[in-house]
Amino acid sequence: MSGKDVLSTLWNATDRLTPQARGQAKIVVNSVAAPFLGSINGAGSAGQVSITFDDGPEPTVTPQLLELLRERGVKLTFFVLLTQCRRYPELLQAIVADGHEIALHGVDHRRITELPYGLAVDYLAGAKRELEELTGQRIDLYRPPFGSQSLSSWSAVRKAGMQVVAWSCDGADWVDRDVDSVVTDSMARLSSGGILLLHERLEPDPKRDAPKTSFDRVDMTFRLLDQVSAKGWTPTTVGNMVAESGARRTMWFRP
Ligand SMILES: [Zn+2]
Repeated sequence: MSGKDVLSTLWNATDRLTPQARGQAKIVVNSVAAPFLGSINGAGSAGQVSITFDDGPEPTVTPQLLELLRERGVKLTFFVLLTQCRRYPELLQAIVADGHEIALHGVDHRRITELPYGLAVDYLAGAKRELEELTGQRIDLYRPPFGSQSLSSWSAVRKAGMQVVAWSCDGADWVDRDVDSVVTDSMARLSSGGILLLHERLEPDPKRDAPKTSFDRVDMTFRLLDQVSAKGWTPTTVGNMVAESGARRTMWFRP
């Protein structure tokens, strides 16, 4: 068993402890290892939050979303899929032209935990290169589909020249419900310096039925931006928030 496997096994073994002991064990391991092996899940920022969108671009959402963000003068982070970028290159260019941050979510939505280390490095490095060619920008942030991550896949992301971005607040916009409940739940759990996970669209999961939602994702963003400014927070990109006030990191491993 490699050192990485041992660490991974130890981490997963904490799931067998009582909830209280597990919480304490994870806090200890996290405080020691997160600076070295952690994934970004926020920044030390007072007064900023990052709202992030995965799985796009998407023709029924991206143009209206960009229009809203232009009106509000807000720049956010888009974790795009290359399959969608190849299908809708004009949408990717529109996001770039508006000055938002482009980050990688994958060529497609596969779990990179299922790839051996060497193949994962090749896959990620190739995707980074393609996205850099398409955008003319340096791509250095990556979010794993489903948040699936092992120490091996985390190392592959670093080897490919990127950092992993997780989230501090899952907007759970993959559950079909009304916009108000998405917004209320998100705001209850989002805090200053936090990263909110949302989606432009939902890529079907080959292992499960594709989640389907019917609420308006632009309206969701509109209302969230209102609530964020009511709190006195400024929405910004992950890269900007981290550059201004330093990354918060957490040990993030899940199947
Ligand atoms: Zn995704």
